[in-house]
Formats: sequence, C-alpha cells, structure tokens
Amino acid sequence: MLIGGRWIEKEETINVYDPQDNTIFSTVPKATKEDMLHAIEAAEEGAKIAAQMPVHERLSILNKAADYVLEHSELYAETIASEGSKTITEARAEVSRCVDTLRISAEEARRINGETIPFDQMPGHENRVGYYYKFPIGIIAAITPFNDPLNLVAHKIGPAVASGNAIIVKPATLTPISAILLAEAFDAAGLPEKVLSVITGSGSEIGDILISHPSIRMVSFTGGLETGEQIAKKAGLKKLSMELGSNSPVIVLDDANIEDTVSSCVSGAFWAVGQNCLGVQRIFVTESNFDEFVQKFITKTNTYKVGDKKDEATNMGPLISEKEAIRVEEWVNEALDEGATLLTGGKRDGAFYSPTVLTNVSTDAKIAKEEIFGPVVLLFQVKDLDEAIEKANDVNYGLQAGIFTKDIKLAFEAIKRLEVGGLMINDSSDYRIDGMPFGGVKGSGLGREGVKYTIQEMTEPKVIQFKL
Ligand code: NAP
Repeated sequence: MLIGGRWIEKEETINVYDPQDNTIFSTVPKATKEDMLHAIEAAEEGAKIAAQMPVHERLSILNKAADYVLEHSELYAETIASEGSKTITEARAEVSRCVDTLRISAEEARRINGETIPFDQMPGHENRVGYYYKFPIGIIAAITPFNDPLNLVAHKIGPAVASGNAIIVKPATLTPISAILLAEAFDAAGLPEKVLSVITGSGSEIGDILISHPSIRMVSFTGGLETGEQIAKKAGLKKLSMELGSNSPVIVLDDANIEDTVSSCVSGAFWAVGQNCLGVQRIFVTESNFDEFVQKFITKTNTYKVGDKKDEATNMGPLISEKEAIRVEEWVNEALDEGATLLTGGKRDGAFYSPTVLTNVSTDAKIAKEEIFGPVVLLFQVKDLDEAIEKANDVNYGLQAGIFTKDIKLAFEAIKRLEVGGLMINDSSDYRIDGMPFGGVKGSGLGREGVKYTIQEMTEPKVIQFKL
C-alpha cells in the first residue's frame, strides 16, 4: 500500500481472491490504526503541497497518469477481471472510462473559477467590488466499493488532484489491487509524495480513525446505504459525499419500441452481474405490451452466456463471492415462497447465479423494496404512467430511472414526478458518462459526482471584498 508516497509492505496480509474459483489472486498489507494515522499525518503536509501546485502541474500529472493507465490497459483490465466480478470485456470498458475520468479531471482543473459579486445590490454598499475564489478543502477521505474498483477510485483521486487537495483512499477489501495500480500510475506521473495514500485494510477496523479524524475535511463515500449511514453518524462536522445504492426502475409505455427496450433493459439488468448501483431492478410495463415484453425479455436473457470471466464470449461472470450468491438465492426463494413466479434463472453454482427474471412479485416484498445487487430483475404490469410513477417512487432509493415512450408530454410528466437524480428517456437507468452530474436522492445519497461536480464538492469559496 502507499502511505504518503512510500510503498509499504507488512507481515500481516489480506488475501485477495478470484471469486470465480476461490483461488488467491494476490495479497495486500493489512493496515493498522497506526498506519492510518501515519497516512493522515503525511496528508496534513500533502494538503499544503497540493494546494500550492500550479494548475499546469496538476493537469500535466493527471494526463500522465491517464497515459500510464492507457499504456498498461490490459494489465488493469486483467486485474479488474481477476479480483472482481467483471468479464474481461466489461473490465476493458471500465479501464477506458478511467482514462477518460482522469483526462476530464485534467481539463476541469483549468476551470475552477470564481465569480464577481455585485455588492451594490444592498443600499449603502455601492463602493465595494469583489469576487470569490474556489480553494481546496484540505484532506479528503475516500472510501470505495468493490463493483467498479478502478473507475470509482479515479472519480475521487482525479478531482482531488485537479482541485489541489490531498486524498487518502480506503478501497474495498475484496478488490484493492485496482486502486493500488491506480496509485502506481500517479506515482509514475510524478504526483508529489504525501498527496496520495492508498490504505488496504478492513473498513470496520480502520475506517473510524479516518472518518472521525479532525484533520479530514471531507468524506467521499461510495458504497451501501447502511455503511453510508454509519459513516455519516461518525463523521461529525465534515463535508459528506454519499454515493449509495438503488433498485432502479424503468417504465415501458404503450408506444415503446419493444425490441430496443428489451435489449437496453437486459443489458442494464445484468451488466457486472447486476452488481451495479444504477442497474435495472424493477420494470413497469403497461398492459398492452406486457406479454410481448415478457416473452422477448426471457428470450434475450436466455441468450446470456454465464461462465469464465476471461473468455470474451462470456456475458456474465460470478458474483463477488459465494456468500453474496447465496444471499441473492435466499432473496429470490423468499419472493417465490411469497407467490412470485420464476420466468427464467434462479440457479446457483458456487458464486455464479444465473440471470433471473421474476413476475407476480408484491411491490411490498423485500426484493422489490431493497437493493438486490445481483442478476435479478422484476417485471410488473401497470395500467398507465400514473401507476408506474407511484410504484417506482414507493421505495427509499432514487438514483436513476429510465422511461421508454415516444410521447414527449408523458416523458415530461415523468421528469417532473420521478424521485431520482437522473432520468434516461428511451434508455434504461444504466446510463452514465463520467462528466455528467451523478448521484441520488432519498437513500441513494447526498451530493453529486462526475468530475466537475465532484470538484465543486471538494472546494470551498472564499469571498474577497475591496472597500473603495
Ligand atoms: P459496502 O459494503 O458499503 O463497502 C464500501 C466500502 O466501505 C468498502 O471500502 C468497505 O470496506 C467500507 N466500509 C465498510 N464498513 C465500514 C465502516 N464501518 N467504516 C468505514 N468504511 C467501511 O459496499 P460494497 O458492497 O463494497 O458496494 C456495493 C454498494 O455500493 C451497493 O449498495 C452499490 O449500489 C453501491 N454503489 C454506489 C455507487 C454510486 O455511485 N451511487 C457506485 C457503486 C456502488 P471493506 O471492504 O474493508 O469492508
């Protein structure tokens, strides 16, 4: 692991497994609370160094780190596909997005602007001029999940470096190697020591020190709602960015093109084995299309090839662990016991779980209310848009949604009424580019990521006023 610019090994290590066959892919040092305190001490100096780095240096480092990832892209993709769930094809797509995230961060470093302030809006303030600058916040604690182990780390380090902050990353223990490789890219790119640390160890053991330390000015967390709530309680007076989970809805209206809709929703449901914060979980289809939609959805799902992640012909690999596959199996079985109908899938083999489609699920069932985070999709028949919106909103999450219709009035009705951070018209909820504001409402989080928007969260305005 990297502590303030020094690569550290420890006697005590943590095994990183390939979930496909449970073999050990690699090991990482097991950090202690003292290691975390060393990283924070280093970051206290790192924050001063980072804040003084001219913008041209920041963007040159970010572009060099992007070049490094691009040059070694196959190593990065192999790593994602070994320590995580993704197929090699999905892993390559993540590497390419990581390169983009770093390049966008370099571009956005040029655009950290303030504004002039019209003080004369108040009587008696006529002879004043001024403006505000955006200053770095200081030290950022970044805690990341297993499902996009490279690009979600880039979404924290890229904007932090662009905005002149120091950052300490605590990657998911299941997938820490991609984060370490990204730190290597920044090391090779010449990022000054002490600006970045990547600490490997259990979040529940070493997380508290990081989250609650007074020198940390912002906690940028991506992960589950429950963990997010625990972190928010412990953080105290700090900025919080919370990118949490969801059980995203998609609405399919009478006039939708069923072929396009099915293809987009199947991909959105099963990308990364459904372990995707904006993955399609609940699909509401109006009555006239329901039977055709169901038939085509099952046919398309049954073409999915589940198996070896490294085989380019594979569509879906294993879940992140057998434990997670068992949890998904239990949730599906509970829904079946409560009267749901299994249309396809429902089979487990170790960490593999087949792409699964259910109908006749009660909207009050756990599987409909909570985030399944696995390859399971629920199909609901609805009367009209009103019923679809009401049911789509009837959960504690609100990250993204999709709606398929040619009727612009109905699309605008959905824009007004769906409780989400993003709505995709004629696409599934599973759509994101790295430069758009991304984040949720309700239990899906606080704040927005997407480089420019992350930079806004990672900087603070300072007002300058001249009395003439
Ligand atoms: P998780 O269990 O919440 O873990 C996320 C991170 O939090 C890991 O690094 C974990 O460390 C750490 N952590 C756990 N307990 C902690 C504690 N008490 N203090 C400090 N850190 C702690 O989530 P996950 O299973 O990795 O990821 C899946 C979740 O992430 C899903 O809910 C998904 O929707 C969400 N997600 C959201 C977005 C988004 O942008 N909105 C993107 C991707 C994923 P350890 O690994 O050491 O336990």
